[in-house]
Amino acid sequence: MQLKLYDTLTRQKRDFVPLDWELGLPEAERRVRMYVCGPTVYDFAHIGNARPVIVFDVLFRLLRHLYGNDRVVYVRNITDVDDRINARAAELGVAIRELTERTYRDFAKDVRALGCLPPSFEPRATEYIEPMQAMIERLIDQGNAYVAEEHVLFHVPSMPDYGQLSKRPLDEMLAGARVEVAPYKRNPMDFVLWKPSKPGEPAWPSPAGIATPGRPGWHIECSAMAWRHLGEMFDIHGGGIDLEFPHHENEIAQSRSAFHTPLMARFWVHNGFLQLEGEKMAKSVGNVVTIRELLTGWNGRVWDQSEIRFLMLSTHYAQPLDWTLHGLEEARRITSDWKKITAQVDHDRIDIKPSPQILSALLDNLNTPEAIHFLHQEAKLAVRDPTLANALYSDLVFLGIFADRKLVADQIKLVSDQIEQELPPIGMQVDSSQEVIRFHRQRLEDHLKIILQNWNPTANVISTSSSMGSNMELLLEPWKKFGPKFISPADMIYINEKIGIEELNRRIEQRLEARRLKRFQEADSIRSEVGSIGIVLNDSKEGTTWEVKR
Ligand SMILES: [Zn+2]
Repeated sequence: MQLKLYDTLTRQKRDFVPLDWELGLPEAERRVRMYVCGPTVYDFAHIGNARPVIVFDVLFRLLRHLYGNDRVVYVRNITDVDDRINARAAELGVAIRELTERTYRDFAKDVRALGCLPPSFEPRATEYIEPMQAMIERLIDQGNAYVAEEHVLFHVPSMPDYGQLSKRPLDEMLAGARVEVAPYKRNPMDFVLWKPSKPGEPAWPSPAGIATPGRPGWHIECSAMAWRHLGEMFDIHGGGIDLEFPHHENEIAQSRSAFHTPLMARFWVHNGFLQLEGEKMAKSVGNVVTIRELLTGWNGRVWDQSEIRFLMLSTHYAQPLDWTLHGLEEARRITSDWKKITAQVDHDRIDIKPSPQILSALLDNLNTPEAIHFLHQEAKLAVRDPTLANALYSDLVFLGIFADRKLVADQIKLVSDQIEQELPPIGMQVDSSQEVIRFHRQRLEDHLKIILQNWNPTANVISTSSSMGSNMELLLEPWKKFGPKFISPADMIYINEKIGIEELNRRIEQRLEARRLKRFQEADSIRSEVGSIGIVLNDSKEGTTWEVKR
């Protein structure tokens, strides 16, 4: 089976063959190389920023599956030098470095919560000034760039086939670039490679003998970082369609001119725009939603990895996507069904790989709507035949819609082992007074809370608990008593905040007792009391279970 990708440069869907394979490099040396433009770290990433991160995470997962986990090199840069960063730092009254570090940590945390694998490299622009300067010097030497009033500018007419990617007429390009009409430019299309810094702005020694220290333009960053990590020509360059012009067009101009290559990347892959409730997202009018808001509370509800990724992948990456509350609610309904269907899956025994139908959908230019269509069919069959739940679970984890419960369990095991080590070893003479036992129990519970709060809600607490230490197992016992098949950490946190699991169990027992004694009014009042805090009690032949319905 052959991967086909749509290449924006040639406007064609073509067979994807990595360069190293085509060149027939020795097996062990072959790598698939992908570069994706990353965030400019000055504020929380919004859901539009999350789209390329998720789309290219799916492509990364697919490439790893096709070529081997250690064969794919995925670079996503961090832009930590930019006018917006300087402005934001001044506005907040913090050091630039402090702002970029903090924003990067927030970004990393947010995209991890969306189930994205870390890229192979996340280079920061400020750590690649030297290769940027080297490229700039080379471009000047070759006549592709020139110095004017302490700026270095790329001379667009020096590249006869400039504009191949966006294929726009020159006047449209000029308007789109919103280029500064500076008198020192030889051509209005010429763009900045380096510019002098004002006092107080980040600055490095300038190239080409320019006296005033300065800083790089945005486009040269990506050319330099891609070069350092992936070489002069590589397989895939990705990003949002909004970056096609001028950013990607200028990356191509710089890299191809510097290295005399026919292409910068053999495939240019662009994801479509994202709108919010049918409107363009714009901070200026308050029509924006950040990843952090979704994860911590948007429209009064907390949204998780499965819901956000489901909605993101239900539209083909190249199409415009409308992000709506209605869409998220639909995603919640569907993914919570899938969580229930897969709750009993023995995740330890499952080798995560895509079903043939999922694979063939993804091989066709990452057709995720088609893949999701198949998941629906798979889920329908799995309801009737529980053995098929394994395949559904495996597909969901492969697509990153669910977290891999085995990996989550491994992490928890690690922490719980550490806690157990700190406890007095079994058989050792210890002071077994109530005070000491209470102390250790409290510490365990505190640890458990921390783990849960950092734990992905798509992982099932109950099915994962079996791999945990015996002390942890004990702490989860009350949750199993009347708990449903699938309990997410979010549910546990909710119950802990609203009523506490011990108290909930006590109320359920009281109700069962009241029913046994035919005191139905009392039983009903307990049900509605619990219902008023968003917990529904379900009675069936097997007994009574609770369910969180926020
Ligand atoms: Zn870039």
